[in-house]
Amino acid sequence: MIQASGLHKSYGETVALDGVDLHVREGEIYGVLGRSGAGKSTLLRCVNLLERPGRGTVTVAGQELTALRSGELNHARRRIGMIHQHFALLSSRTVAANVAFPLEVMGVARAERERRVAELLDLVGLGGRGGDRPHQLSGGQKQRVGIARALAGDPAVLLSDEATSALDPATTRSILDLLKRLNAELGLTILLITHEMNVVKSVCDSVAIMAGGRIEESGSIAGLIRTP
Ligand code: ADP
Ligand code: ADP
Repeated sequence: MIQASGLHKSYGETVALDGVDLHVREGEIYGVLGRSGAGKSTLLRCVNLLERPGRGTVTVAGQELTALRSGELNHARRRIGMIHQHFALLSSRTVAANVAFPLEVMGVARAERERRVAELLDLVGLGGRGGDRPHQLSGGQKQRVGIARALAGDPAVLLSDEATSALDPATTRSILDLLKRLNAELGLTILLITHEMNVVKSVCDSVAIMAGGRIEESGSIAGLIRTP
């Protein structure tokens, strides 16, 4: 579902990605684990071409994104949802309007948008909260809004950038449970980056360990991490 080959990315003298290959199969939850500065976030941003790799190719859901021009890329990116550590919600918009935002950009008609937003809020356990503003919600609820918004375009792939790092352990658990459920029920492929071993252990099928812009090891969770 996601195939990245030979990715290189430098910022001036800093080499953020130094030849990264990644293969994420359809329907799996794949974790990239590493310390701060390892290159995880650069890798994630290269997967949806928010950042253009200096070298290498990225193919998502059968489409080589690195071969597309920017106009075509915007269209292809609808198949890729993303959630963020600090949620990235628009504070002036209601919860429903945040979730509706990508649908507006896609030109989905108002009635269909409202139907879809209600469905998405139900899916993430926020039915009835559409009229609230983000500041009225807890961190976990804000991340649920982020997840609903990321799913609005019916993506094949969800990218998660440290989605639970700003949350307490119980809330982290509930968000990870939600991701697991979406993976099982929708067949959603999830690529997540994290610095927390516990996140990887509790939800991932496969893991890559990253350091210094390289993947040091990768494979099934059972093979790489011994659980006590
Ligand atoms: P991680 O997500 O694992 O913390 P990053 O991908 O953010 O790692 O960073 C990898 C390296 O690239 C770091 O040395 C970081 O300082 C550098 N880097 C990342 N983004 C930029 C940028 N926009 N400009 C300059 N250096 C960057
Ligand atoms: P407007 O479209 O008048 O600017 P808003 O900014 O409040 O209205 O909302 C933007 C979009 O969010 C709406 O067009 C609609 O698609 C969606 N939306 C807003 N409120 C709700 C709601 N309670 N239930 C479902 N969808 C909603």
